[in-house]
Amino acid sequence: MNNSKINISKRLNECLSTQIFDLLIKCGEFTERNSASLFLVGGCLRDILLNKRPKDIDLTLVNGDSNLVQNLSEYLGGKIIFKSQFFTYKLKVNNNIIDITEARKEVYSSPGSLPKITSKCSIDDDLYRRDFTINSMALSLNPASLGNIIDPFNGINDINNKNIRIIHDNSFSDDPTRILRAIRYSIRLNFNIDNQTLSKINEFKSNINSITGFRIKNELIKILREDSRSKILLYLDTLKILDIIQPNINLNTKINEIFDNFQFKDEYIDDLILIGILIYNLNIQNIIYFAEKLYLDSIFIKTLRDTNEIKQLLQNVKLDKLKNSSIYKQLYKYKYEAIIINRYFSNENVCQKIDLYLNKLKDTIPPLNGKEIIALGAKPGPIIKEIMDYLLHEKLDGNIKNKDQAKIKATQILNK
Ligand code: ATP
Repeated sequence: MNNSKINISKRLNECLSTQIFDLLIKCGEFTERNSASLFLVGGCLRDILLNKRPKDIDLTLVNGDSNLVQNLSEYLGGKIIFKSQFFTYKLKVNNNIIDITEARKEVYSSPGSLPKITSKCSIDDDLYRRDFTINSMALSLNPASLGNIIDPFNGINDINNKNIRIIHDNSFSDDPTRILRAIRYSIRLNFNIDNQTLSKINEFKSNINSITGFRIKNELIKILREDSRSKILLYLDTLKILDIIQPNINLNTKINEIFDNFQFKDEYIDDLILIGILIYNLNIQNIIYFAEKLYLDSIFIKTLRDTNEIKQLLQNVKLDKLKNSSIYKQLYKYKYEAIIINRYFSNENVCQKIDLYLNKLKDTIPPLNGKEIIALGAKPGPIIKEIMDYLLHEKLDGNIKNKDQAKIKATQILNK
């Protein structure tokens, strides 16, 4: 496949819904009428050239500004649902999401720092800021040049040869997150990392520690969201990069097996669970170090602490031998995700008890509320909560089946 041989309109038709295809044509027409240019770019074009349906629709606007994007969204009958200070916009048109970025140039003042960004540049400048040749192509959507592909770094050739290649030698020193991206793409797409790029990975991998934890976290989460997460992590481990992110992550067969069977569904919860699984074997000091380094939020940190506490607990307590109220007492204070993470590492009997807790015990309510206990003669104060807890535990163990039985028990306590 070379540029001239690709029947691009056929590809676009195959890989995009008719609605999106028509929308893109309209976007190109509108932009051209307003003396600007619009391109389909990045991973979106890469996926189309690979005959895959792209996850996102990414467009780059040249010679246009936020007014033009605003007018375009009105023309399409949609609205801008997100706008960042970096000249990026998210448009929603009839349930379709389109990402538009003004063509931009990035200048790195020091390796690993966030780049200075300027807009008002050419499509070539915009392509030069990107990570790999296969992501550094643009397809024109303007009617006059519709379907023309701009491919300054021979990305099509690298797609044909299944190659991940950086577009200049400073790429990884400018932005070491690209090292993690190279490995992710190589496994996801089943591409080889070209030799020169691989040697640059080895040269600059220690620079990963110079990136902000926030950016490492984002790339790590992208890796964990991939179906082939365990293979990517194994490759990172082989290249001694995992150790740079966090020493002592022990990617054993159990973790690989859990990762291989994991079905990613809910973004935030699943991110929490996947990170918890990844660092399950770390001790609490390393967990806190990792969490602080990656600027994980307080919910993440609470989940990871809980995970570690439950892990210790399950080593000391045989959950499968406990009665329901004791299971409840052991687990009630822990976050759901932390319990789920531990479930992945538990045997079948313990899993059954965890399921019982999560599906039934956790949401059981005391048979009497505070008012009902006061009505039985209790004085308002801590005793109310104590009686409610006692009644709840009796209910969990099947010793109280209805309100009348609960009232009898409560009255017995009050009369003691
Ligand atoms: P995916 O298929 O995982 O979404 P993508 O290629 O769409 O991959 P994004 O992370 O959404 O990736 O980024 C969109 C585009 O922005 C990429 O294709 C690439 O051209 C560019 N890009 C993203 N991150 C970087 C980076 N760190 N350095 C250079 N270019 C980048």
